[in-house]
Amino acid sequence: MRALVYEGEWQMPLREVKPPVPGDNDVIVQVKAAGICGSDVHGYAGITGRRTPPIVMGHEFGGVISEIGARVADYAPGDRVVIQPLWTCGKCESCTSGVPSLCLNRSGIGINTDGAFADAVRVPHQLLRRLPAEMTWEQAAMIEPLAVAMRAVNRSPIKLMDTVVIVGAGTIGLLALTMAKLKGAGQVIISDLSTHRLELAKQLGADMAVNVKEQDVVQIVRAQTDGVGASIVIEAVGASATVRQALSVVRSGGHITWIGNSQPEVALNMQTIVTREITVTGTYCYNDEFERALQAIHTQRVNVAPLIERVAPLEEGPQLIHDLAKGTLEAVKVILVP
Ligand SMILES: [Zn+2]
Ligand SMILES: [Zn+2]
Repeated sequence: MRALVYEGEWQMPLREVKPPVPGDNDVIVQVKAAGICGSDVHGYAGITGRRTPPIVMGHEFGGVISEIGARVADYAPGDRVVIQPLWTCGKCESCTSGVPSLCLNRSGIGINTDGAFADAVRVPHQLLRRLPAEMTWEQAAMIEPLAVAMRAVNRSPIKLMDTVVIVGAGTIGLLALTMAKLKGAGQVIISDLSTHRLELAKQLGADMAVNVKEQDVVQIVRAQTDGVGASIVIEAVGASATVRQALSVVRSGGHITWIGNSQPEVALNMQTIVTREITVTGTYCYNDEFERALQAIHTQRVNVAPLIERVAPLEEGPQLIHDLAKGTLEAVKVILVP
């Protein structure tokens, strides 16, 4: 079968590889749609160290079961499924205390084991969820990123009519914008460097979309909040400049949720956090948010369609991920269809 194999920094050619074989508790899923995540792009460029070659990336996906292991009874070939890609042990302290996303033994499909930028992928059956018949494959691929944004907003104490600032208008920032509005934010101000992404943000309901190349976001947020600053800031980039920006727009006593994960280390003024009593919360992956994201798309409570800007065959993957990493392709969500 064909797979995009990440072989080292800036190298992810289409290769012919051995098809996966299911273990007793696994199934083989024929991939129908797989989203390219920012973490894949950063991993590809070798910025984050979050992907170790050789590996097939791709953790946002759905497909059709083609084969089942000897002990799989609850699924059958032909079933349409979406994959919750985070494997957790069920036994460690995090798992038994109800936060499996922090499992001490967690492992992600397409992150630690071979993923969905391929014709087929092996999946442990407990990670399968049935995809409702009305849902498209592109929608299936959007469930995972929506779940990530949902958890970020669940971990942000937004009160009705709060001013929320979102730093970064990539897929996660834009989905967080949608979720913050759903949670009752009074106004949402989003910032980015890309005019294209900011246009999309406005289309998705941002009250203000600030291009930090041209406008002073601190001044704008102050003007919109009687000089006080935003109660809640969601940082969806994860670099020094954007982390500092988040700190400069939050109100004293306010809350910042860090979801961006581009650079392992950032430089910031810690004194600001201390003397202004800022609460900083990290957020990673999801727990029941995955099922809720599926439900939100299925019931059309959330429309993910505007974010999907490119659907392309698997063989275009190497060029697309290269262009995304170089910044020459501005598409928000790119989905590969093997
Ligand atoms: Zn992702
Ligand atoms: Zn565990």
